[in-house]
Amino acid sequence: MEHNSDRLMRRCPRLGGPVEFSYCRFCDENNHPCFKIFDCWWEIFDVVAYMKKCLSPEQFEKLTQKKAKPKVVSIVELIHEIQKRNKNQE
Ligand code: SF4
Repeated sequence: MEHNSDRLMRRCPRLGGPVEFSYCRFCDENNHPCFKIFDCWWEIFDVVAYMKKCLSPEQFEKLTQKKAKPKVVSIVELIHEIQKRNKNQE
């Protein structure tokens, strides 16, 4: 479901280009939110309250405890994710 915040944009420190918030909500494996979602969006709107509303208490707890993976692992995962999205758009 789309939300008003979904169209907000910022530069993604992982991709090096602009992304919409809607991307950050689902870009990790299994369509989970990015582990950096709080770091990246807290200055723009109340992302903590928003994610609390969207997720179950367990999912929210998990998200707050997510840690960064080694950079090379996240880069490979991002490439796979982009390839998957491009394939779905063909
Ligand atoms: S939350 Fe993740 S995907 Fe979104 S801008 Fe930050 S690092 Fe990029």
